[in-house]
Amino acid sequence: MSPSLAINSDYKRTLLDSLELFRGVRPDDVQGLLQRCDRRDLAAGELLLSPGARNEHVYIVLSGSLNVHVGSVDTPMIASMDVGACVGEMSIIEDRDPSAFVIAAEDSHLLLIHQTVLWEMVDASHNFAKNLLVVLSERVRSHNRVIADSFGEIKKFERHATTDALTGLANRHAMLESFPLAIERCVEKDDPVAMMMIDIDNFKNFNDLFGHIAGDRALVAVAKVLRIQFRPQDLLVRYGGDEFVVLLPGTNKEQALVIGERVRLAVCGKTGDGSDSMIRIPLRISMGVAERAPHGTLETLAHDADAALYRAKDSGRDTVSD
Ligand code: GH3
Ligand code: MG
Repeated sequence: MSPSLAINSDYKRTLLDSLELFRGVRPDDVQGLLQRCDRRDLAAGELLLSPGARNEHVYIVLSGSLNVHVGSVDTPMIASMDVGACVGEMSIIEDRDPSAFVIAAEDSHLLLIHQTVLWEMVDASHNFAKNLLVVLSERVRSHNRVIADSFGEIKKFERHATTDALTGLANRHAMLESFPLAIERCVEKDDPVAMMMIDIDNFKNFNDLFGHIAGDRALVAVAKVLRIQFRPQDLLVRYGGDEFVVLLPGTNKEQALVIGERVRLAVCGKTGDGSDSMIRIPLRISMGVAERAPHGTLETLAHDADAALYRAKDSGRDTVSD
């Protein structure tokens, strides 16, 4: 073999190795088939593939890059195909129209393999067939990832719809979903269920005195104390503004009053034994407590707890009333 032929053969092998479909493919196995392939130049922004337009080629990026969009070209791209990558193979193998839009991200130069030549390459080279399988499995994996990501996004939106953005507690919307179920379970088990309505005292003054941002921080701090104070099975929500509601399954009014007093002390920075706790918020809260009456509903329970809260406010605030 002459030195010049050896260099030529090495060069071809290096060139082929840089293309994902031709990795490890012997130049001699596909040389004749490559000569039957065309080339195509794409200007930046030019559309190569789109759903609904028949495709008969696999395209290999020789220079430049392509962007893949699902749904419409205006959506954010889901993948970028750089030099060496291929597109179009799925529609050939499935014998269906492309499922995505492929657009040149910049001026690009492509190698076109017609579908008949593609199948001849599969017959001619074991490595080519293997590479095609690897490309396909990567496509399936990346599609699964896109599905998993969008599922995660949906879950995130659902969570945001039921979560109070400031405190991270469940919001009134979540309460309408979870409270009736919890009450139903207590009714079935013949268990008591109590509700606690909590409202910060003179919070308007706090805002006026310290500013709205400090008010927001105080709300977050109160929410944090409340979260610590209740059991995992208790349902705590920020009802709105400076008002919180807690449903306590399996708890009667007397027990709820005791819990309420403990929570009141914890929020104002005191503990049950009169010593100072670690929490320091210059705020007081009033609480109304009610137990579900026989045949009572969420509405009647909320009404009774609200009436109890009014009594707590009326009797001078910083107290728990039933
Ligand atoms: P009361 O003792 O009777 O409850 O008096 P109050 O001043 O707390 O009156 P009320 O509960 O009716 O008013 C709640 C105030 O809470 C009104 C508003 O200024 C403040 N507030 C509501 N939501 C927010 C919030 O998200 N951030 C801040 N900083 N303040 C809020
Ligand atoms: Mg208030």
